[in-house]
Amino acid sequence: MAKNKQRIIGIDTDEVLAATFQNLIEYLNPIFGKNFSLKDMWSYKLWEVYGVSLEKIMPHFLDFNRSDAIRRAPLIEGAREGVAELARRGHKLVDITGRPEFTRPDTQAWLTEGFNNAFEGLYYAKSIYGVHLPTKADICLEKGVDTLVDDSPIFASEHNPLVHHGLRILFMTIMENILGERELEIVGM
Ligand SMILES: [Mg+2]
Repeated sequence: MAKNKQRIIGIDTDEVLAATFQNLIEYLNPIFGKNFSLKDMWSYKLWEVYGVSLEKIMPHFLDFNRSDAIRRAPLIEGAREGVAELARRGHKLVDITGRPEFTRPDTQAWLTEGFNNAFEGLYYAKSIYGVHLPTKADICLEKGVDTLVDDSPIFASEHNPLVHHGLRILFMTIMENILGERELEIVGM
């Protein structure tokens, strides 16, 4: 087999490397008097699932991100092995996340410990938390990222124009129930 081209691969954090959603749901359930599990999450917009506004849920999102949930986030099954293999093949790996920026020290420590220092950069992208930040698409273009691994069609959809610049999007999720055909169409996969 021909030697693979060395790539710069951008990898999302939550639900690609870190199994965060389950913990977030368990955190939110008592606050909103629900008993949801992952299979009840029909949208990435969890405030819609819980039947409240983004403004109402935001303080709880922020509290969750300030809790030790970020430092203790379990790994997605196979993530450590997958990242190690990509690094072994000589690809440059960077993490691109939509978490709140104040999580940088915890996220960096978690990445370093969990992935044996495989990531050469940690970039914070525009999200519901950091509306002023560059989009994931902006970061990919600026840093020369040619492959993005992400679970969220909301973020991945921003990359549609980049497909024409040769960016590959590897779209993965453990929450298959969320991905209706319409959302898959949005990201062009
Ligand atoms: Mg994610």
